[in-house]
Amino acid sequence: MSTSHFETDAIRNQLERTNFMEHSAPLFLTSSFVFDDAEDMRASFDEEKERSIYSRFSNPNTSEFVQKVCRMEGAEAGFAYATGMAAVYSTLAALLNAGDHIVSAGSVFGSTHALFTKFFPKWNITTSYFDVNFPNEIEKHIKPNTKILYAESPTNPAVDIVDLELLGKIAKKHKLILIIDNCFATPYLQQPISFGADLVIHSATKLMDGQGRVLGGVTVGRADLIREIYLFSRNTGPALSPFNAWILSKSLETLAVRVDRHCENALKVASFLEQHPKVATVKYPFLPSHPQYTIAKKQMKQGGNIVAFEIKGGINAGRTFLNHIKLASLSANLGDTRTIVTHPASTTHSKLSEDERRAVSITDGLVRVSVGLEHADDIINDLNQALLS
Ligand SMILES: *Cc1c(COP(=O)(O)O)cnc(C)c1O
Repeated sequence: MSTSHFETDAIRNQLERTNFMEHSAPLFLTSSFVFDDAEDMRASFDEEKERSIYSRFSNPNTSEFVQKVCRMEGAEAGFAYATGMAAVYSTLAALLNAGDHIVSAGSVFGSTHALFTKFFPKWNITTSYFDVNFPNEIEKHIKPNTKILYAESPTNPAVDIVDLELLGKIAKKHKLILIIDNCFATPYLQQPISFGADLVIHSATKLMDGQGRVLGGVTVGRADLIREIYLFSRNTGPALSPFNAWILSKSLETLAVRVDRHCENALKVASFLEQHPKVATVKYPFLPSHPQYTIAKKQMKQGGNIVAFEIKGGINAGRTFLNHIKLASLSANLGDTRTIVTHPASTTHSKLSEDERRAVSITDGLVRVSVGLEHADDIINDLNQALLS
């Protein structure tokens, strides 16, 4: 059944019932599937039948998860991965040939950046980076061998916004494959395919699971591209486990209500920080002070759960702030029910030089808050006492 409402679709579309007439979708924890006879097996391997053969290729639980994400993103097809990075790597490795070139936003997830900068050059695949704050310069980076245009919005950890409609137009004009990592927004807040993206990638580890339990990833989009990605992935083996798919598919049933509350709390936190004497600046897409506020309003339903702010006093003030946090967690994850704070300059990005950090919008006092689902007053009180310490 297909309805026009996101919430109903997320809950009511599930695997076909088995003879046991279960209400909740069962877990198919099986590595392989059986055939009636030689002809059934032949037809299945020839893909004349749409069915599961081996869980590295597909499994009812991973298929249910993928189909839900496809409906949420308005995509034709997809494939699910063990982690978000497996999705990023497999998608790009399936589509790129030696000598190809990528144009990417400079501020992309750390491991994605490492893939582009440290590993793809081994296969003569090169990347040029554009500054998300200078979108007029994107086209200057495009070369005759450019194949892929890649970005995330909102970005990590600075919470900048990239104009997806503009990227869609540039990709179409230059016949590039536009890939958007939509992890920070989720399909509930933003659907990049409606702005011209060919493929959308998620780390399902974040808001999709939303409870800090399992790792997962998914790529959805144009059926012809997904076919190439599927053939590469079924042979290279980065598939999502059925158990994690079962968890993630269940999690999608509550994505809308969870993300609504995350965004409500995040807006309260951002508004509080904006008037705090120890805070220099706050970046949250749905605060009018955000440099790309109008673009955020155009392409997002709400502002997401990540708030970035600049603490007065640089590296030392950031470190002191982390040391005085009591309720929130110091952790590398984000998009959890639990609020998480990080100070990139003294932790995740401490190995970069000051110039390198500035190039990816990480200033010395930048603090990233992944706003959770605790009561907003408790989150605000914790941040306040740590700022005043
Ligand atoms: C976490 C994250 C990834 C990688 O996902 P894993 O599940 O940790 O492999 C990719 N992109 C973004 C934007 C992320 O936040």
